Amino acid sequence: MNSDTDREQIIGLAELHAGYTLKEAIDEAKRCLNCKNPLCVQGCPIEHKIPEWINQLSKGNIGGAMELINEKSNLPAICGRVCPHEKQCEGHCILNKKGNPVRVGKLERFIADFDSEMGLSKERLKAKTRGKVAVIGSGPAGLTVAGDLARDGFNVVVFEGQKEPGGVLLYGIPEYRLPNDITRREVKKIETLGVTFRNNCIVGESITVDAMFEEEGFDAVFIGSGTSVPQSLNIEGGNLFGVSQSAYFLRMVSLFASGDIDRAEVPLRVGDKVAIIGAGNVAMDAARTALRMGAESVTIVYRKKEEDMPALRSEYLEAKAEGVQFLLEAATKEFVGKEIKGNSILSGLKVDTADGEIVLPVDRIFLAVGSKPANRIVSTSLGIDVDERGYITTKEHPYGMTSRRGVFAGGDVVHTPQTVVLAMREAKRVASGISQYVDAVKLLGV
Ligand SMILES: Cc1cc2nc3c(=O)[nH]c(=O)nc-3n(C[C@H](O)[C@H](O)[C@H](O)COP(=O)(O)OP(=O)(O)OC[C@H]3O[C@@H](n4cnc5c(N)ncnc54)[C@H](O)[C@@H]3O)c2cc1C
Repeated sequence: MNSDTDREQIIGLAELHAGYTLKEAIDEAKRCLNCKNPLCVQGCPIEHKIPEWINQLSKGNIGGAMELINEKSNLPAICGRVCPHEKQCEGHCILNKKGNPVRVGKLERFIADFDSEMGLSKERLKAKTRGKVAVIGSGPAGLTVAGDLARDGFNVVVFEGQKEPGGVLLYGIPEYRLPNDITRREVKKIETLGVTFRNNCIVGESITVDAMFEEEGFDAVFIGSGTSVPQSLNIEGGNLFGVSQSAYFLRMVSLFASGDIDRAEVPLRVGDKVAIIGAGNVAMDAARTALRMGAESVTIVYRKKEEDMPALRSEYLEAKAEGVQFLLEAATKEFVGKEIKGNSILSGLKVDTADGEIVLPVDRIFLAVGSKPANRIVSTSLGIDVDERGYITTKEHPYGMTSRRGVFAGGDVVHTPQTVVLAMREAKRVASGISQYVDAVKLLGV
């Protein structure tokens, strides 16, 4: 095993962007104009009471600010770091007209971090008398449903297939953008609301949805299992040694960073030449992580133009500034291999460009061309309908219920891969659908 110092040296564990000091945070909060018609709130998918908590912060009342944040979000330290603020709150801020919006994300992060470090807020917990709900998955959707229902007096058990809760927050988004300890701290806060976590429990293997109702007496089940099956490209050379998924690479780096696996198990050697196929946020994360792990060069290969890239512009610009190269309008044709001692090993990437066909010499290729839901849960339970691509279909009334009574779903497994805050927004609506459903069943006895 590598020591902690080795790990830090190899992958630069430190968070890239520093947070505010208390003085900086208060000074920034004082810039807020407290607009009568706050556009920032309209830009926020969960309609945070942004000017109100910024106002509390500007007066130094951080506990009061945190109470207002808790009304809308269970994951502020995470949203403060990874939400696409440039498109949401900050993009809508009136001061953005002059290119200098109030840094809402950084302020949210400051308040959440300060609250946790100082142990400011202590919530009064309700007795868990309203019913028993099973939550499958502990990504942003599952954590939001769990937190909201526990606050509302439900007994909640989260079933998580991995050894630790957090989903993509822990195993996908890299440490330099979202340190794993921040995710762990947010999960701990949800645990203190009275939520129980059963980790290493894969629903569809260790337990089924049917058993949750029949053997464990749950009143409702929420599925927030995300999209864990990465898409592949159906081209020659896909099975060569050296071709793998970005999601797998990021997960192995996260496990290495947590000290769970050895450096040799991470699928990248120092000095490797790397190509990433795709140009979304996952591609940017894989590219920047590959540089941190010692790649000699990293090239993002994308079939369309710069303006078509699904990645956030800020992520793209940061990747470029760090030295990631971009080969745009280049269609991937073939993964080229060579035989070494009876093994087929990747040696190049054949692409079609405006100037004709070229072969880039590469040692590693990481695919980042999308992901879809696994069918393990729905294939082992009765009556949960999915669409033709495998996404679970849900109803408007009660919000988020699937074709099976008492089973609800939300987040990426319903809405396709999106963002943390969009998974949270849906999960909040589904949590209220679940409480209405359970209350009605108990009242009417049906
Ligand atoms: C590399 C990467 C970077 C990203 N960066 C950003 C970003 O910067 N900002 C942003 O807003 N969004 C980002 N996203 C998108 C965002 O993370 C997702 O939209 C969000 O995590 C979806 O939440 P979810 O709860 O629906 O699913 P997930 O976060 O995928 O959580 C699903 C959970 O269910 C568990 N699970 C699955 N099947 C089972 C089962 N059978 N039994 C038990 N447990 C199960 C999984 O282990 C996991 O914990 C990124 C995504 C990736 C992959």
